[in-house]
Amino acid sequence: MAGSTGNTYRPLGGWVEMPEAPQPELEGDVSADVVIVGAGFAGLSTALELAARGAKVVVLEREFAGFGASGRNAGYLAGGQGLEYDLFLKRVGREQARGIVGFYDAGVGYVEGKLRDYGIDCDYNASGIIRAAVHPSQEKKLRRRMQVGIELGSPAEFLDQAAMRARGIPPAFLFGAYSPGGGTLDPGKYVMGLRRAALRAGVRIYENTTLQSWVDGPVVRALTARGSASAPFLVLATNAYTPQLGLLRDKVMPLRVSAIETEPLSARQLASLGWARREGIVTSHWTMESHRLTARDTLVLTTKRLHYVYGRQTPSVPDTSAYRQLAQGLHERFPTLDGVAIRACWSGYISFAYDALPVVGEAGAQRNILYAAGCSGHGVGTQSLMGRLLAERIGGTEPALLSTLRHQTPSTLPEPLQWCVVNSALGVANAMDDRVNRKARSAARR
Ligand SMILES: Cc1cc2nc3c(=O)[nH]c(=O)nc-3n(C[C@H](O)[C@H](O)[C@H](O)COP(=O)(O)OP(=O)(O)OC[C@H]3O[C@@H](n4cnc5c(N)ncnc54)[C@H](O)[C@@H]3O)c2cc1C
Repeated sequence: MAGSTGNTYRPLGGWVEMPEAPQPELEGDVSADVVIVGAGFAGLSTALELAARGAKVVVLEREFAGFGASGRNAGYLAGGQGLEYDLFLKRVGREQARGIVGFYDAGVGYVEGKLRDYGIDCDYNASGIIRAAVHPSQEKKLRRRMQVGIELGSPAEFLDQAAMRARGIPPAFLFGAYSPGGGTLDPGKYVMGLRRAALRAGVRIYENTTLQSWVDGPVVRALTARGSASAPFLVLATNAYTPQLGLLRDKVMPLRVSAIETEPLSARQLASLGWARREGIVTSHWTMESHRLTARDTLVLTTKRLHYVYGRQTPSVPDTSAYRQLAQGLHERFPTLDGVAIRACWSGYISFAYDALPVVGEAGAQRNILYAAGCSGHGVGTQSLMGRLLAERIGGTEPALLSTLRHQTPSTLPEPLQWCVVNSALGVANAMDDRVNRKARSAARR
């Protein structure tokens, strides 16, 4: 069977290495127009947008730029068809939902533009994305979801079995909903490209520098172990780690998402797949699987199993049961690759609100502490575009897209209730997905 996952755990994820020349730790007291905490897509994009407007910007990063989800994700640049409409449509209503879907779609064009502006080569393949079914029983849900997305303004078309085979999509993926926008990229190269662009633009990045606390006021003072950074605005771009700073504890929770990557496929193995356009594929399960080829001819699989750790914690530990499940997915969806070795396994944390929507707003007596979290598994486009919205807001204008995102985020549950409810819900989703997988397996044997 494909893919033993033993001994392939990578604590930094599969796409990035620690920079050879890390930026210095903050020592002493510095000041700026804006201090940003967190150097992922959100923090670095905000820094770049602010620097372009002439602001003096300081970024504080606990590890190094790209250490968080931005350096660990699957690299799908996806728009509004990826959303979980059922979780928010009734709460926010159709009009606001259209605006939110528009924000997700705008994130795709935003990143495409910034890759050109900053000259970032991150192996972007504008292939579009297919949400595929692995068993006929998934058709109703898949079609309904696609239709809701279309009605909310995000284009997609149904690909029947003949259309999937004509595209050369591997046969385990029976039919699907094709979103023409977006595609896949190397998130490590993208986030490191943002880091380089930010340094070039004069942003001062302090790595290995943890924000410990802050002092509120017209000038906010961010305190670190060996210094402080003060500015009229503080931006918390710490995503899944935000509750640990004492903010959004009742709004978002971290969920652990895992990934495996194969060794590079041989020419024969690649030919056995077909898949000439290398579209990013996600499945129609309750907890999706994602399957994509990379520019280095490896296959990266993610998700399938999510985990919530008691007390909103985000330990950097291997998730062997998730890797095992992903390896099983590799075996079942790509039987021609039997025996392919796993090169790397890793995990990271996304920030999830109960309605799966972004959580963006202001805190502090002066409303000058801005935060952006909760993009769930969809931050490549959205957390990047968030940078422009936050920069405009800091500049004194409220962008229309930011107003669209503002809504009442449902409150999360206190512990231990949250741990019980979330893990029970994930368990039910896994059981339903396992049922579909069993049916797909027996159909494949026939
Ligand atoms: C396995 C996986 C697969 C995914 N796949 C996709 C995908 O295909 N497409 C997609 O759109 N999204 C995907 N996502 C989600 C996406 O990666 C995130 O939404 C996005 O990267 C979030 O960016 P961010 O900048 O908000 O947060 P992060 O990238 O998490 O950055 C936050 C940063 O804050 C730093 N930090 C935390 N606390 C402190 C502190 N106290 N002081 C200083 N610094 C601090 C962290 O070290 C980190 O670098 C995936 C996520 C995972 C984990």
